[in-house]
Order: sequence, then structure tokens, then C-alpha cells
Amino acid sequence: MCAVSQEELNVYKSAEARFEYAAQKMSLEDGVYRYLKYPSKEITVYLPVAMDDGRLEVFIGYRVLHSSVRGPGKGGIRFAPDVSIDEVRALAAWMTWKCAVVNIPFGGAKGGVICDPSKLSKTELERITRRYTGELSDWFGPERDVPAPDIGTNDQTMAWVMDTYSMHVRQATTAVVTGKPLELGGSLGRKEATGRGVMMCCDNALAKLKMKKDGCRVIIQGFGNVGSQAAILMHKAGYKIIGLADIHGGLYNDKGFDVPKVIDWVYTQGKKLHDFPGGGDKQSSKDVLFHPTDILIPAATENQITTENASRVDCKILCEGANGPVTSHADPIIENKGIFVIPDILGNAGGVTVSYFEWVQDRQGFFWRESEVNERLQDVMDQSFDQVVRYAESHGVNNRIAAYIMAIDRVARALKLRGIYA
Ligand code: GLU
Repeated sequence: MCAVSQEELNVYKSAEARFEYAAQKMSLEDGVYRYLKYPSKEITVYLPVAMDDGRLEVFIGYRVLHSSVRGPGKGGIRFAPDVSIDEVRALAAWMTWKCAVVNIPFGGAKGGVICDPSKLSKTELERITRRYTGELSDWFGPERDVPAPDIGTNDQTMAWVMDTYSMHVRQATTAVVTGKPLELGGSLGRKEATGRGVMMCCDNALAKLKMKKDGCRVIIQGFGNVGSQAAILMHKAGYKIIGLADIHGGLYNDKGFDVPKVIDWVYTQGKKLHDFPGGGDKQSSKDVLFHPTDILIPAATENQITTENASRVDCKILCEGANGPVTSHADPIIENKGIFVIPDILGNAGGVTVSYFEWVQDRQGFFWRESEVNERLQDVMDQSFDQVVRYAESHGVNNRIAAYIMAIDRVARALKLRGIYA
């Protein structure tokens, strides 16, 4: 029996609860509150796709544009079996707040297709992606809505989006999508960007809490793009990675993992993380979250920390690499423990920040050195971290609510300046 209510696990409700609390704290005007509470528009597409065995299958896809007040919609495309319209709505709203927290000129959007990429061939995935993009070719555009990778999609998926869109508009349009391969106008540093942003936030938190980096214990749940990049970068920087997990299971080793060896095992040899022979106690991917540690980085999916298990979290810093890993109902439990929280809309914003750099480079037709990308990312993350923490301290709210208030305020100001078209 599951002790956590469906209401708690509804990510749209979680996103809404934080928005409402922040709106109330900042006395957001009623009309603006109503405007920002709902998405700007949303669409469901039914995608007929020829499967490799000759069957015709129909996949359901969504795209939600939450806001284009500060610029074109921005946000990933998720391919997963449990994608739902509520999840996509929540993720789209989070993109609006995320882009506003790091002050990049985008609104928020998100898309998804209900499918299981692990059970589909590359050619089937290509046909799903192309049909999805074809159906949305009037919706996407460098000035309208710019997709990117998310769970279940990658740089190859983005290459297909770019190609399909370009065929529809009869010209090569690299800036329609970010997270592309380098050969197609991708940016150096984009692949590492979300993990790098996570590390930059942790570096800032350590400085703030006067903790030492060397030997600082870190547990990372999730070994996809975000988790694996955070692990490798943080290991190199001197952090001690004592816990790792992916969808199949977790590993704990208080002596710390040799992360390059784990990466080689999983990514070069294609083996399962929890079969890694280099030491570590096998456990479930949830259990790895509850060992004592200095930093805990949930970088997998939503709803990992709930009212049922939040009391078991034992860390000083919780940096959210995933979107929505802590339910809104669990927020007070984490807060009462005095844990320093780096909320998702700041913690994982490194990805969309470098997506912004990619979009800028594509539109300029001029590409930056990797060091330039990373330096600019560092500036954005340091400044955003500083602003959120200062706001929290000066207004007596927690970091998450400070980030929401700053973001909502930026969007509301832009909305006021634009006015309402009628
Ligand atoms: N899917 C990523 C996120 O949730 C990246 C979005 C983007 O780069 O547009 O932040």
C-alpha cells in the first residue's frame, strides 16, 4: 500500500502549490496571478508511426507553452511511458520560472511523447520524432518555441527535430532547437552544462556554509546526462562521490567511487551501474538517498522525496538536479531539518543557460570556445545563486520560495511593460 496520496504525487499540483505560496508572499496582483497560473496554450498530437514490423502504432504527444512573456518558449521534449499532460504542464511552468531565475530571455515550454525509448528501435524513435516535429512545425521556431533534450531524448533526437523543421520551412534553421550535435550548430559545453551548473551551485553552497570541498561527501541519484556529468565533474574537482544510482538500482561506498571507472563501465562497456565491480553495496535507487552525506543530489525524476521518506534524508545541502524531485508536501519536513536547499529552478538551470548560449551562437553564426561557454555559465550561476540566497535571507523565506518570488517578479514586470493585447 502506498502511503503517499495521489494529490501529493501530482507534479502539476506541486508546481502550483509553490507558485501560490510565493504569489501570496509577494502579494502578487490578482489578475497577474491568474494570468501566470495557467499555461498560455497546450496541444495534444496523435502520431501515427509505422513500426519496424509493419504495424501502424499511434503515439500521444503534448506540447505546452506556459509563457512567452519574456521571450520564445523554451524547454525539453521528454520521451517516457509515464508522460502525462499534467506533468508536461508542470514542467513547462518550471521552465518559465527557471529561465527567469537565471535571467535569460526565454519563456517556458515543455513537450513529451508517451513511449518507452528502451523498447523502440532507432528508426522508430526517428519516425516518432519527425512526426511529432512535423505536427508542431507551425508551433516551433527560433522566435516561437525552442525545444531541447530531456529524459529519453538526446542530441540525435534534436538533430532529427532540426532537420524536420528545416525541411518544412525550406531552410536550414539550427536555432529552432538546442542540445544539438556540434556538427549541426550545437554548443561546446552543452552536454556537461546541467551537471556543471549543479556543481557550481554546490561550490557556492559550500562557500556559503564554510564547508571544505576536498573530501566533501556527495550522493547522486540518477546516472543519465545530469547525474553522470555532475559525478564526473565533481569527482575531478575533489568531491567524494559515495553514492550513485540509476533506474535499475543504487550503489553505496563510503570510501568514494572512482567515477571515471564507473563511467567507463556504464557508458563505454554498456553495463548496468549496480553491477559495477569496483566496490559498493548494492541497494535500491531510493535507499541510496538516505545515507548520511554532506551533499545529496537527486538527479533522476520527480517525486523521489515525499512525506513518507523525507524524515530519513540526512544531508547538509540538497541540490536538485532533476525537476521536482521533492514534493511540495515534503518541503516543510526538509526545511525543519535545516537542510540548505538549492531548488530545481536554480540547481539544474545550467542546462537551459547553455541552451541559451547555443541559440545565441546559432543566430550569430559564430561559435565560442568551450572556456568561454563555461566562464559565462559560471557568471550566470554565481550571480543567480547569490541573488536567490540574498533574497531568502533578507525576506525570511526559504531558497525555493525566494527563487519563485524572484522569477515571478521578473515575469510580472515584463508582463506589465508589455500590457495586455486585446
Ligand atoms: N530539459 C532541460 C531542463 O529541464 C533543458 C531545457 C532546455 O535546455 O531548453 O532544463
